[in-house]
Amino acid sequence: MPSNTEPKTGGQTRQAFALLHRAARPDQHHLGWAVMWLMLAALLEVLGPIMGKALIDEHLLPRHLDWPRMAALLAGLLLTGWIASGLRYLQLVRLSGLAMRSVMRLRQMVYGHVLLLPMSFFDRAITGQLVSRVTNDTEAVKNLYIQVLFVMLDSTIVLVGTIAAMAFLDWRLMSMVLALLPAVLVIVWLYQRWSAPAVTRARALRSDINGQMAESIGGMSVLQANNAEARFGARFAATNHDHYTARLAELRANAWLLRPALDLFNIILLAAVIFMFGNREMTASEVGVLYAFISYLARVIEPLIQITMQFSQLQQAVVASARVATLLDEAAANEHSAAAPGNARHAGADRDDDGARPAVAIRHLNFAYNEGQTVLHDLSLEIPQGAFFGIVGHTGSGKSTLLSLLLRFYPAHHGSIAIHGVPLDEIDNERFRAEVGLVPQDPFLLAASARENIDMGRGLTQQQIETAARAAHAHDFITALDQGYDTPLGEGGSRLSVGQKQLIAIARALAGQPRILLLDEATSHIDSQTEQIVQVAMDELRGKVTVIAIAHRLSTIRDADRIIVLNHGRIAETGPHEQLMQIDGGLYQRLYLLQQLAA
Ligand code: ATP
Ligand code: MG
Repeated sequence: MPSNTEPKTGGQTRQAFALLHRAARPDQHHLGWAVMWLMLAALLEVLGPIMGKALIDEHLLPRHLDWPRMAALLAGLLLTGWIASGLRYLQLVRLSGLAMRSVMRLRQMVYGHVLLLPMSFFDRAITGQLVSRVTNDTEAVKNLYIQVLFVMLDSTIVLVGTIAAMAFLDWRLMSMVLALLPAVLVIVWLYQRWSAPAVTRARALRSDINGQMAESIGGMSVLQANNAEARFGARFAATNHDHYTARLAELRANAWLLRPALDLFNIILLAAVIFMFGNREMTASEVGVLYAFISYLARVIEPLIQITMQFSQLQQAVVASARVATLLDEAAANEHSAAAPGNARHAGADRDDDGARPAVAIRHLNFAYNEGQTVLHDLSLEIPQGAFFGIVGHTGSGKSTLLSLLLRFYPAHHGSIAIHGVPLDEIDNERFRAEVGLVPQDPFLLAASARENIDMGRGLTQQQIETAARAAHAHDFITALDQGYDTPLGEGGSRLSVGQKQLIAIARALAGQPRILLLDEATSHIDSQTEQIVQVAMDELRGKVTVIAIAHRLSTIRDADRIIVLNHGRIAETGPHEQLMQIDGGLYQRLYLLQQLAA
């Protein structure tokens, strides 16, 4: 899919943080509080060992038992620890709430945006990847907060505070500890080199696993009918195993470099500190310093380990956020009408005086899905209001494409289309969808009840739904289902026959009371008897609704006011049935005679 062309890393990081900012903006005050509590907690934690040191060096060792001051120091030690835990709790709750709300907002943003994308985007999109954008990648943005930014901030504060406290206690010891720290950076760098590729690979493979799963479930009947279970199983096993290997490589890097290497380093530091103390003729007054230093050593190493671990998370989160940002950058269809509704006109703007305007006027229309492969050539056509037009032609001649352009699924490249006198790209989206109804070539049903499938969230009354179902002659079979209009139809309407699905799709289109009704092969899957029923329904619409029907079965459109015969994207013949039958050797005549023979 298009968003796979990933931007450069620097740009990615900027993109990721811009997105994070957008998602978290309404929660900014929470962020401020969380940062403040975090800083306070970290500082209190650094203070603890200093009080411990004072207790040991000033009171315990010299046996200077000043009880009130000792009690105060002890209380301070307990209190700072206690308050620090409390602050950490508050910070975590605020931050997690904020992160989760950001994910929620981000998902809403992504899904809302996907709903607006033009059809040409979905020609290229891979469903599994798109789903993963909305679920996994937005979740990664949350990690960017909790796991990355805050842990890094936390660790940095603790690290700086600890080093400052060490300097305060004994600057020579501190310099020695500091001098050894670059070794940690080397370990970090090694870890990065080793684990980053494995992490990226593991992620890509997990996305593949999702994709293969989705594809197989979607096409299970085809898969089983072609005896492809074993092949798909093997393909899945290979991907699954690759994923395992990549994860294992990642784990090896973690297991080697993070804990053991850094823990070893911790022990070296400890030995060095003790060695220096030993060399210096330790006085009794320095035992407390040793205690404090040993306490602090762990606090120098731990934040470094934490920061190290965050790097791979950061990388993942940035890549994921950048993918989300790229998706959000995909231009939505008809953005101008969404952005400036005031400028947009709608097709029914002048319902009273547009009677003379054609329902559809197409002028010199050219179109190609991919550059260089023109599908429609210089098409011009005018359809009066209330007329019944049929479109016929060989497979691939461009019939569905013409309807897609009328439906504004794709922008026309050259030429213009106007509906009721208004150019397509100036029509307000909502109004446009209400005026133009579609019965598509493959009727798409939701995994919902018959009622919901006709309603499509428009909030129609039972009366309106039934009227539409009756007009489409779907009422009888719907009421015969075990729960009538409330019968769940299964995913993709799997409980119905293809013809029944088509009748539901017709009812759905009619329920919107469109002024223009487009039918793409609406009769191809129904028997002759049902086809006659649909024809009766079409007849009832005559004069009230402009009907444009594509039909392979020519009997459906025999009675059309005019039939357009498409051939390789050009209009080859046009006229009513009788007239077209007069053209000897004409395309329509040949098609018709062939069908007569077959019948
Ligand atoms: P049928 O009777 O089989 O439905 P049709 O007349 O409706 O055929 P179209 O679907 O309009 O044919 O296709 C016209 C041409 O455009 C075909 O060559 C097809 O390969 C191409 N085409 C259709 N849809 C796309 C698409 N989404 N992307 C690229 N090319 C497409
Ligand atoms: Mg078609």
